[in-house]
Amino acid sequence: MSPLLIATKNAHKTQEFRALLASRFAVTDLCAQPEIPAPEETGRTFAENAGIKALSASKQFAGLVLADDSGLCVDALRGAPGVHSARYAGPSASDADNRAHLLSELAAYSEAHQRRARFQCALVLARDGQLLGVFQGAVEGVLLGREQGEGGFGYDSLFVPDGHEASFGVLPPQVKNAISHRSRALEAFERWLAGQPFV
Ligand code: IMP
Repeated sequence: MSPLLIATKNAHKTQEFRALLASRFAVTDLCAQPEIPAPEETGRTFAENAGIKALSASKQFAGLVLADDSGLCVDALRGAPGVHSARYAGPSASDADNRAHLLSELAAYSEAHQRRARFQCALVLARDGQLLGVFQGAVEGVLLGREQGEGGFGYDSLFVPDGHEASFGVLPPQVKNAISHRSRALEAFERWLAGQPFV
């Protein structure tokens, strides 16, 4: 099986990638490569940030590198937290801090139609310091007024995907992995791979 380095130290992301790619790649992440530093994410879009992470890791790792940049975009907040999702409540905020901050920003919006949001994911594939492709995915849904469930990570316990009655914090991982922004971006990656016999 080909090795694939995921340019992240986020164990939750790696777990989702492993579940989704297990049949095709031996997935590792930057926890196994502590000598590769995490670059500053200075991009204005998910794709720019994923590109920064993919290039940085791929200059220091021989083999295929896939970087994920992802986050939550809320219509009522004009797309926030967006690329700032990981540090919405401050530079060293925890996921719980970020969820609490989001709930307070949304307090004035009580109707479901005012709480529309989407998770977005950009994946960038690189090898030997060269970008090979950019793949994007999104999942639409609505934000709850309080946390529901303890599964997943980040904003999962606040987000109910369209077509479901429960949050990603309650829905089993297999359900999230069938419809998530990350799995949809990976589907685009796999379609691209199918046309690349030498990758
Ligand atoms: P990144 O590591 O800079 O891409 O930041 C991603 C942030 O977006 C995470 O820390 C979460 O707050 C949020 N996020 C991304 N994907 C998910 C997801 O699948 N579920 C919940 N939150 C997510």
